[in-house]
Amino acid sequence: MGPLTELDSMYEAELINLLAPFNLSTDDDVVMWTPSVTGDYSVAEGVRLLCASSDSQVINWKKLVWNNRVPSKVAIFHWLACKKSIPVRDILIRRHILSHSHSPLCGWCNPEVETIEHLLLHCSWSHKVWSALFQWWNLRWVMPNSILNFSADWYHDMGIGDKKFWRLIGPATLWAIWIARNDFIFNGNYTCWTSIFRSIKLKVFLWASTFKLCYSHQSYVWDYNPGLLCHSV
Ligand SMILES: [Zn+2]
Repeated sequence: MGPLTELDSMYEAELINLLAPFNLSTDDDVVMWTPSVTGDYSVAEGVRLLCASSDSQVINWKKLVWNNRVPSKVAIFHWLACKKSIPVRDILIRRHILSHSHSPLCGWCNPEVETIEHLLLHCSWSHKVWSALFQWWNLRWVMPNSILNFSADWYHDMGIGDKKFWRLIGPATLWAIWIARNDFIFNGNYTCWTSIFRSIKLKVFLWASTFKLCYSHQSYVWDYNPGLLCHSV
């Protein structure tokens, strides 16, 4: 593990505050996983509960997280975004991790509150990244109002041949926006949306090559007419 970040320290302080009223006894208290009758945790039971949740009507969690070709940290981030559990300003303030004296506004476009949907889907900065991606594929797509709807629609709306690539492009773009946002807030580094667009193209091409969805000699086609690759391999 790396050193504690400012955000880690805030979470730690919040956790200590929450636990302060409780006295734990090593004689009486045990660690147990409450969804299980025995109190023991198992991955299989965790996946079963996750897939049986009400969200499964909207999201195919197996495709989104457990059976995906994107790196696990990217898939998990996408899942956390669907669960409204990534620490954007709006959530940090509403959970009292940041005080109300902090600004809830988006660092990029300022007049708007930094919610998950705003940051990842609707912010004018993020919108430029998405628009460039759609233009690259010569597609038109109306951005949904929530991450859940985005994730559900994403897999249904893209053409069958395109899906193998767009299943990578969606999570890659969410992740790239998040990393750029953190670099801006914590390090003061503003990244132009055009370089994020280029980095997403390159990253997805590398991921797709790993799974033999395309090959390194096709990078020129990928850059200028990626639709040609949909039925070529
Ligand atoms: Zn914004």
